[in-house]
Amino acid sequence: MITTVLLVAATLAAPASQDTLSPAARRVLADVRFLADDRQEGRGVGTAGLSRSGAYIRDALARAGFQASFQDFTISRDAPAVLHTTLGGTATRNVVAILPGTSAALRGEVVVIGAHYDHLGLGGFGAMDPDSTGRVHNGADDNASGTAALLEIARLLGHRRPGRTIVLVAFSGEELGTLGSSYFVQHPLPQPVDSIYAMLNMDMVGRLRNARLLALGAATAKEFPALLDSLNTPPRFDLRASGDGWGPSDHAVFFAARRPVLHFFTDLHEDYHRSTDDWDKINASGVAQVAQFVGDLAWTLANRAGPLTFVDAPRPQATAGGGSGYGAYLGTIPDMTGSPGGVRITGVRAGSPAELAGLKAGDVITAIGAKVVANLYDMTDALRSHQAGDTVVIVVKRDGAEQRVTAILGKRAS
Ligand SMILES: [Zn+2]
Repeated sequence: MITTVLLVAATLAAPASQDTLSPAARRVLADVRFLADDRQEGRGVGTAGLSRSGAYIRDALARAGFQASFQDFTISRDAPAVLHTTLGGTATRNVVAILPGTSAALRGEVVVIGAHYDHLGLGGFGAMDPDSTGRVHNGADDNASGTAALLEIARLLGHRRPGRTIVLVAFSGEELGTLGSSYFVQHPLPQPVDSIYAMLNMDMVGRLRNARLLALGAATAKEFPALLDSLNTPPRFDLRASGDGWGPSDHAVFFAARRPVLHFFTDLHEDYHRSTDDWDKINASGVAQVAQFVGDLAWTLANRAGPLTFVDAPRPQATAGGGSGYGAYLGTIPDMTGSPGGVRITGVRAGSPAELAGLKAGDVITAIGAKVVANLYDMTDALRSHQAGDTVVIVVKRDGAEQRVTAILGKRAS
C-alpha cells in the first residue's frame, strides 16, 4: 500500500509522539526501552544487565505461547575475542523458543528466526569510539531493535499452528564473534542442523528510513527473491534483496552450515557501535513493520510445499569469522546495499580521517593505496593491510569523474 510508505516518510519527518503509534509499535518501543536502558549495562557478556535481559526475553516468548528455555554455554578461552577481553570462561546463555510444527510431513523441518541480544557493555572491544570506553553502550539499534522484533513475531505467531516447526533464538556473544549462534549450530534445538529449512536474522532493524529495508542473503536460496517480492505487495518496503550469506552477524554461521539465510537490516548509521546508539533514535513503527514482514515470511516458509534450493558461495578471506574488523581506521559509512565497481559511502564520521581527507556522501571508493576496492571485503582488506598513521591515496568516483584524495589513517578501537 502506497500510503504505508507515505506514513513512514511522515514518521521520519516528524518523529511520532508515543500516543500516535500503533499498538504493535508501542509494544516494540517498550521492549527496546527496557533492553536499551542504562540499567542493562549495555548488555555486555557477564553482566547482570544481560542476565536480566535474557530473563525478560524468555518470559515474553513464553507469554506469547512458545516453549521457551535457556541454552547455557561458556565463552571459549580460544575465542578470538578472548585475545582482546577477559571474558574467556564466562557463562552466558541463548534464549530458545519452540513452536512445534503440526504437519506430520513437515514438522521435522525447522524455520529459525534469530536476533542477538548482547551488545558492547561499556565499550572498548568492538566499539568505534575509544574515547567513550567506560560509558554504557546501550545498543538500541544493535540489537535491541532486532530482539524487540523477535518478541513481536512471537506475539504474531505464538498461538498459530504452523506446518513446520518454528524456533526463535535470541543469541548471546554475537559482539564477541557470533559465539552464541556458533554454539546453537553445534547444539541445535530441537532437531539437527540439517533439519533447518531456513534461518532469518534480524540485526539492526531500528532505523528504517524512506522505507528502505535490506534483505542480505537473498541469493542463498533460488526461491528467495520471488518469495520476498510476493510478500512485499502491496509494497511495504523499498526492498533491496541481494547477496550471499556471508556477513558480520549470526546468519553467516548458519550459511557456513549450508542453510539458506536472510539478514534483515535497516543499514548503518553514524551511531553504529557508539555510546550514542540510544532508544530515542529508534523508528518503532519501522521495527513493527519489519516484524510483521519477517513474521509473514516465516509463516510462508513454515507452510510452503517443497524444499528450498540452497546456493553456496565461497567464504571471503578478509571477513572469515565476522566481527567488527581490525586494521587502520578511515571513518566512512558504507552503503551496505553495494554498488557496482566500488564502495559507495553514505557519509563520513565527524572528525574522521575520511572527513579530513575530503571524502563525501555519494563518493564511490575504487582504490585505497595499492589495492583495488570492488566491494566491502576489498575495503576491509585494504584497511587491514595498513596501520594507524599511514598516508594513503584514495581513488573515488564523484559525479562521474575520478578524483584522488590523501588520507592519514587513524587508529581503530580495539
Ligand atoms: Zn554490533
